[in-house]
Amino acid sequence: MSIKWRLTGLFLGMTGLSILLFWVGESVRLVSGEQRIDVGVILLALLLPAGVVYFYTSQLIRRMEKLHFATQRIARGDFEHIHLSDSTDEIGQFTVELNSLSRHVEMIVQNGTQEAQKMEAILAGMQEGVVAVDHVGRVVLVNAAAERIFERQKTVRDLEYLLELTYDSELEQLTRKVLSGQPSAMREIQIAQRIVQSKINPILSGQGQSRGAVIVFHDVTELRRLEKMRTEFVANVSHELRTPLTSIKGFVETLLDGAAEDPSLRNRFLEIIQAETLRLQRLIEDLLTIAHLEGHENRAEVRTGKVSYVQNAYDKIKPVIQSVAQAKGIEVEVDLPENLPPLIMGEDLLSQLLLNLLENAVKYTAAGRVWLHAQVGPKFLRLEFGDTGCGIPKDILPRIFERFYRVDKARSRGQGGTGLGLSIVKHMVEGVGGDISVDSKLGVGTVFTCNLPRAKL
Ligand code: ADP
Repeated sequence: MSIKWRLTGLFLGMTGLSILLFWVGESVRLVSGEQRIDVGVILLALLLPAGVVYFYTSQLIRRMEKLHFATQRIARGDFEHIHLSDSTDEIGQFTVELNSLSRHVEMIVQNGTQEAQKMEAILAGMQEGVVAVDHVGRVVLVNAAAERIFERQKTVRDLEYLLELTYDSELEQLTRKVLSGQPSAMREIQIAQRIVQSKINPILSGQGQSRGAVIVFHDVTELRRLEKMRTEFVANVSHELRTPLTSIKGFVETLLDGAAEDPSLRNRFLEIIQAETLRLQRLIEDLLTIAHLEGHENRAEVRTGKVSYVQNAYDKIKPVIQSVAQAKGIEVEVDLPENLPPLIMGEDLLSQLLLNLLENAVKYTAAGRVWLHAQVGPKFLRLEFGDTGCGIPKDILPRIFERFYRVDKARSRGQGGTGLGLSIVKHMVEGVGGDISVDSKLGVGTVFTCNLPRAKL
C-alpha cells in the first residue's frame, strides 16, 4: 500500500480513536455524575495517537536514512545489494529501482574497467610508442614502448609536457598545430643512435572539436640501416662490375687500334681480358648465391630436411683445391674421421662453404700448409679451416664478414677475389642455425671455426 494511503488511514484511525476515547470519557463522566472533566482521558486521547504517529514516522525516516547511505555507497562504487524490507510502498519500490540502477552502473563500470584493461594490454604489447596529450598539450598517457624509445626514467605523473619526454621542440610545435586544427603531421626525430618516425593525429569530439592528440612513434632505425645497406650494396656492385668492364673495354679498344698486330701484345691483352671476364663471372655467380640465400633458400633446406656429409662435399671440390695448392707448393691436410654424422645442409651448399674457406686459406698463404679438421659434438659438428698464411690484423677481424670488405683490395683482386666469399659463408652457416668465428695472427696464420648443426639420423 502507498505511503499516502497509509498516512491518511493512520490519520483517520487516530482521529477516530481520539474521538472514541473522548466520547467514552464523557459518557463515563455523565453516568457517574462527575462534574470535572477527566484530564487522564483527554491526555490518553491525545498521546496515544501521537505515539502511534511518532512510531510510524520514525520507521519511515530510518528507512529513508538507510536509502540515503545506500545511495552514497553506490556513488563510491560499492554496488552491494540493498535490502530494507519487503514492503511494496514507494520506499520499497524505490529500493528495488535503486538496486537495479546499482546493478546497471556496476555493469557499466565493469565493462569500462575491462575495456580500459584491454586497451592497456594492447598499448603495452605494441611495438610502436604511443603518447596521448590533452587539449592543452599535457601528457595523459605513455605506453611501455614509448618509455623504451625515449629511455625515460620518470613516471607519467612526473611528466607534464611532451617536450619533457621527447626534448624535440619541433615535434612539440607540430603537436600544438594539430591541437589547434591541423588534420595530422609527421616528423622523423633522432634519439641518440636511433631514428624514430612520429605521426601526430588529433582526437576529436563528436562536434569536431579538438580534445587532444595521439602521437605514435615508430623506431625506423633498422629500416633506415637496411635501406642504407641496400644503397651501399648497389653502389659497391656497380663499382665492382665497372672495374673489370672498364679494363676489358680498354684492352679491346687497344687491340682494335692495332695492338692485335703484335702477337705478344695481343696474347697478353687477351689473357687480361680473359682474367677480367672470369672475375666478372665469379662476381655474378657470387651475387646470384647471395640472392638465393636472401630468398631463404638455405632455410628452406632446413625445413625440407636436406642433409649432407662433409666427406662427400669435400670430394666434389678436392680437385680444385688440390690443383691451386699444388701450383703454390702448399700442403693440404684434410683430417675427416670416418662415420662423421650428416649435417642439416644441402650438399651443394656445403661444398660451396668448404670451397670458399679452403680456397681463401690457399689464396692467402704464400707457403706452408692448409688444413681442414672435424670434431663431433653432441648437437654440432665443428669444422676447423686453418692456414699458415699472412693472417688478418686483429682490429679488422670483425669486419671481414662484411660484403665487399677486403683487407688488401689490390691483393684480393689480384687473386681473383670478389670480396663476397666470407659474407656468403656466414649467411649459409647462420641460415642453418650454426655459427662461424675467426682467429688470426698477423704473419702466422688464420683459423676459421664453423659449428654446423647435425642432422638427426
Ligand atoms: P675475397 O674474395 O676477397 O677473398 P672474402 O669475403 O672471401 O673475399 O674475404 C674477405 C677478406 O678477408 C679477404 O679479402 C682477405 O683480405 C681476408 N681473408 C679471408 N680469408 C683469409 C685467410 N684465410 N687468411 C687471410 N686473410 C683472409
